[in-house]
Amino acid sequence: MKDIGRRNHKIGAKQLAMFLDVRCNKFRMSEEFKNYLRSHREPKHDELVERLAEFFRNEGYSCRIELPVEYRNIQGRIDLVCEKDNDVVIIEVKSAKLINFCLSDLFQLAIYSFLYFHKFIEAHSNLGKELRAYIAYKLLETQASNNIIMLELEINEEFLQFMKNLLDKILDGEKIVTEAFVPGYYCRFCDRDDCPFLGGIING
Ligand code: SF4
Repeated sequence: MKDIGRRNHKIGAKQLAMFLDVRCNKFRMSEEFKNYLRSHREPKHDELVERLAEFFRNEGYSCRIELPVEYRNIQGRIDLVCEKDNDVVIIEVKSAKLINFCLSDLFQLAIYSFLYFHKFIEAHSNLGKELRAYIAYKLLETQASNNIIMLELEINEEFLQFMKNLLDKILDGEKIVTEAFVPGYYCRFCDRDDCPFLGGIING
């Protein structure tokens, strides 16, 4: 977390969301997992984005796919943004099933919502816009299923202020996690070989 506030050091919103879900201050993301995050993109993902965009277009929305957003040195691309009049819908699309939900998905959507608000609403004083944010998952276990379920994250003024304070604290180098080794599911993505919990064994 220490490097996160470094000037000119770009941070991906997805990577930051993963960090927010990690409660161990010793966590060090393995190169292998970084590469996976950079390159992994299932074809199914793009199909799901296109299906959702089609749905919203049919409802009269204009849609933008992979919309770039940023705040200070955090940057990311929102899978889908649909807009009609003052209604703005942000969607983070997961090709995983709902059963695979994890907190970092929610953090990712929360970061994107704030980044969108900062770049397109606050900066242009478009304060009449109503922002809604969703994560879309496949509903069922079967690959054949086409059903999508959308979980809504409630966006309001307090939430946006909370996100701004949180991101500013992280970017300014404040510690938001404990000094201790705290094992969790994320250990499999960590390459600290000095960890008493032996992440390497968990990896194996
Ligand atoms: S393997 Fe050890 S250092 Fe890495 S996240 Fe887990 S507890 Fe923390």
